Amino acid sequence: MFPGERDIDRAVAELQEGLPERLRPLARVAYDYRWCWAADGPAVFAAIDPERWVRTGGNPRRLLTETHRATLGRAAGDARFVDRVARLADELAADRARPWLGGVASPDRPIAFCCAEFGVHASLPIYSGGLGILAGDILKEASDLALPMVGVGLLYRTGYFHQRIDVSGLQHEYWLDADPDRLPCVRVSDVAGRPLTVEVPINDETVTAQVWRVDVGRVPLYLLDTDLSANSAVGRWVTSRLYESNRTIRLAQYAVLGVGGVRALRALGIEPAVYHVNEGHAALGVFELLAQARAAGGAGYDAAWQRVREQVVFTTHTPVPAGNETYSRDEVLAALGRIADLAGDREQFLAAGRIDPANTGQPSGMSALAVRASRRINAVSRRHAEVARAMWQPLFPGRALDEVPITHVTNGVHAPTWLRGPMRELLDRYLGEGWLGRADDPATWERVNDIPAAGLWAARCAARAELVDMIVQRSTAHRLSRGDPMDYAEAARTGFDPGRLTIGFARRLATYKRLHLLALLPERAFALLGGERPIQFIFAGKAHPADADAKEIVRQLFALKRAPSVAGRVAFLEDYDMAIAGQLVAGCDVWVNLPRPPLEASGTSGMKSCLNGGLQLSVLDGWWAEAWDGSNGWAINGDVDGDHQAQDYRDANTLFDLLQHEVIPLFHERDADGVPQRWVAMMRRSLQTNGPRFCATRMVREYAGRIYPNGAMQQP
Ligand SMILES: *Cc1c(COP(=O)(O)O)cnc(C)c1O
Repeated sequence: MFPGERDIDRAVAELQEGLPERLRPLARVAYDYRWCWAADGPAVFAAIDPERWVRTGGNPRRLLTETHRATLGRAAGDARFVDRVARLADELAADRARPWLGGVASPDRPIAFCCAEFGVHASLPIYSGGLGILAGDILKEASDLALPMVGVGLLYRTGYFHQRIDVSGLQHEYWLDADPDRLPCVRVSDVAGRPLTVEVPINDETVTAQVWRVDVGRVPLYLLDTDLSANSAVGRWVTSRLYESNRTIRLAQYAVLGVGGVRALRALGIEPAVYHVNEGHAALGVFELLAQARAAGGAGYDAAWQRVREQVVFTTHTPVPAGNETYSRDEVLAALGRIADLAGDREQFLAAGRIDPANTGQPSGMSALAVRASRRINAVSRRHAEVARAMWQPLFPGRALDEVPITHVTNGVHAPTWLRGPMRELLDRYLGEGWLGRADDPATWERVNDIPAAGLWAARCAARAELVDMIVQRSTAHRLSRGDPMDYAEAARTGFDPGRLTIGFARRLATYKRLHLLALLPERAFALLGGERPIQFIFAGKAHPADADAKEIVRQLFALKRAPSVAGRVAFLEDYDMAIAGQLVAGCDVWVNLPRPPLEASGTSGMKSCLNGGLQLSVLDGWWAEAWDGSNGWAINGDVDGDHQAQDYRDANTLFDLLQHEVIPLFHERDADGVPQRWVAMMRRSLQTNGPRFCATRMVREYAGRIYPNGAMQQP
């Protein structure tokens, strides 16, 4: 039982009071995100009041408090529905009752997984993209494997921004208040029943943070929040926004997450077996650990530092030096000077974050600190590890490149979260009882051979039709709300076709993702969109508010919207989030990723698409460089090229060549029953080769087996 359990019990009891007797089991279900990956979980909540479910963004606490009593009464009067509720509640209770996995961690000494963002569900807006969703998938998989883990993060009051595109193609940002009193989370209280708080010295203020708990299956996620009247207006703002552009506020966030996170765990009485620092944002926690080690043992600086290293492991996600932000001496000391004092010495504090500790002119950063403070370091794909070893070699003077101790654990995705609708039903039926627990075993996926081609194809078509339905609804509304001409809005309503080859490109829009390649050769794009066998393209993604280049790419794409073949064949879905991602990866036939190599650390959206029977057409970078085998999708050369413009034109041409000469013909090569046999064969290959390797089961087992256990620093 993890701290905060009593607070959860109280919140559940309060929610139950407003529910009809026979729906009361749903109150506990609502306070544990485990429902969102139970086969019947989302459908049970949706069945109560489908429209309200959508309006609450899939937030079960809001659904159960805001639904009209008469509607709740109707659901409680439906014996079959009440039966489903009972079965769901029983399933989740049984899941909680399983024994914990033995090994390096135990419920008394769990893994503490620390990250700046967590993508658990669209209704909990504390994530922006790949990093957060990976973190959420790790918590969910730890729960499934019964690996004792707690999460540590921040509760951003207004989360990440929402996106709107105006009629000229410009991105606008707005922020919405997340209101924790309506989220399925509870404020953790201390033994006296008062809100538990910790203090963090930032600038010249002592900022107080309270702690919220959100349950992700068996893993409690503790979130710090400084929006308290005890703090100054600046102190309250610290945990307001995810990836805030203001550098001082960013440093303050790192202090709350790192130092505040370690202090919160201690105040909660949790003594982690391992601190997993996932990306550098939480690295300042090592100074609190250092202070604790020195206070406990009276150890000197070096001995205490060694003790800290035994407890910390680090995962790096950023293959570009620029992505690893650094801060000047003045910036660091102004914001974090009193945290530096925890280290005992401000010069040592600054030095720990430099590439060359002795060079006092160098800025300091969280990534270098995390590398230095960890006994194990991993990158997130094989290729990324090579890049990371070269990048961090200067931190290991005297070591050859292949001796730099950075290994890799390639990312994976949580299958029951990302596998949707008809495809999930099919795999549940054919892969055997409990297959998700064996998802990392290639033998599990051999049974994909038993699924008839017509069945696989029917599931693909059903998922695509669902997606097209969503695109029609959303795109029409987007165009009308932007003030686009009526014929253009009408084209969204009538132009998209559930039978047409559907290609997806959706992710955070950083320039290295090269969305602009799709608009680089407009004539070739128009020819495919409007050809004899037309295709349709679906885009989505947000550019960071401060990334003017990425916003400009979106604007250039929108400049093509009035071309004749575009209006009913190309859609840009605003405000990309986990809900939209889930529908896109389930519905698209082909998933495209065009990073500039070697800048894609891993990429995970393609893995989600694979699980749903989508085929990849991507640059051989990140995960795809180790996944592609010539028969399970399509590849674009992944070599590094210093001439970016030449590379862009070459890759754009390759993309259109593959679409024109391979992808489109294969999609239309049908047998007498209308089934594209060779396409379906490729789907099988993709499922069988990628399913076992890029699921979170394989990933978290690797962390538990290779990264978390203590021992000598391992060689790559
Ligand atoms: C999976 C996912 C991502 C990550 O996509 P990449 O392929 O890693 O770029 C980003 N955003 C959302 C909403 C996702 O679901």
